[in-house]
Amino acid sequence: MAVSSRVRQAMENQSWIRQMFELGTRLKQQHGEDRVFDLSLGNPALEPPEIFGRELRRLADSPDIGMHRYMPNAGYPDTRAAVAAHLAATTGLPFTGDHVVMTCGSGGALNVAIKAVLDPGDEVVVLAPYFPEYLGYADNHGGVARIAHTDSAFQPDPAALESALTERTRAVIVNSPNNPTGVVYSDEALEAIGDVLGRAEARFGTNIALISDEPYARLTYDGIETPPVFPYHASSLLVTSFSKDLSLAGERIGYVAVNPACPDAEELLGGLIYCNRTLGFVNAPALMQRIVPAILESSVDIDWYRRKRDYVWERLTGMGYRMVRPHGAFYAFPSSPIEDDVAFVRSLLEWNVLVTPGTGFGRPGHFRVSYSVEDRVLEGAMEGFSRAARACGLPG
Ligand code: PLP
Repeated sequence: MAVSSRVRQAMENQSWIRQMFELGTRLKQQHGEDRVFDLSLGNPALEPPEIFGRELRRLADSPDIGMHRYMPNAGYPDTRAAVAAHLAATTGLPFTGDHVVMTCGSGGALNVAIKAVLDPGDEVVVLAPYFPEYLGYADNHGGVARIAHTDSAFQPDPAALESALTERTRAVIVNSPNNPTGVVYSDEALEAIGDVLGRAEARFGTNIALISDEPYARLTYDGIETPPVFPYHASSLLVTSFSKDLSLAGERIGYVAVNPACPDAEELLGGLIYCNRTLGFVNAPALMQRIVPAILESSVDIDWYRRKRDYVWERLTGMGYRMVRPHGAFYAFPSSPIEDDVAFVRSLLEWNVLVTPGTGFGRPGHFRVSYSVEDRVLEGAMEGFSRAARACGLPG
């Protein structure tokens, strides 16, 4: 049976993703998995910390009556209170459990937040390069995505943001540490975004939600911390998950938290809870919610990723690739040595190296390297990077 023309169109626009995936699968069949160096996936490569397994066993060994039943759509009150206490301690703001809705990861939280604030035809501004799913999420809810480019260091450009805002703008999504660049937005950049949004709200007489997507917030290096957005814009929401910092991506657990200073916060929270229900999520997974209070302060070994970041930085810049130094997440986003990033990415396939073209993230002329892989895979990819660099006139 045919899919809708809208879905077909969206699939066609992303056909390069399918092509890359198919080429990768073919390479793995031809040469064997261990001869293909796949740096194209954003999947956490570490196992969750031990405390996660302990909590799972504790729950399995002494189950509470009713622990697998439906619950309030916003989540368990205890879990929401624990998340709020964590947020209050880290931001100094008066969060309570009522400001938090537990969700199916950041992806679920983004859909809930976008649906809650958009009427059909309203606009969502996305900073490029961006996580490509944002475009699909905006479209899910009748939204129109508008793109504002970041500057040459991939930091937000206030002037570009300002010119992307209209009276139809209902939301701006920021993502720091950033997928695909690994850049952490500075306090100054977030302050500038807050100023731009404040002026636009006054000019248009509207509210613009600043949605900060932070699943990589704890994966930062070099002593840099991810600044919270809350101080810079009252109508702000944090969406995040335990997918990356606790390696729980398959468990679909995260949350959305509304700034306590947000105007009409109560109505917005009611809307978020309604959307969590009617989007069919109903509630975030019960078992995971029961574990969240125990793991809120834990994380995987962040230094494991930092060492790989260092290795990628040293090797690729040594070969002559130009790149903004990533300070977070598990990605690097070098410039393509030739203008056509898709052609460059194809050329790497000759050496069984898989990366993702910047075109897919709204920033052609670059490619994304995911270093969330075993050392063997990362080291194995270097020969291909070196030969491809030399073929383009870099030292290699
Ligand atoms: N946002 C960004 C920037 C991501 O990179 C991802 C996953 O790769 C997500 C959101 C979705 O993550 P999850 O729904 O697993 O929390």
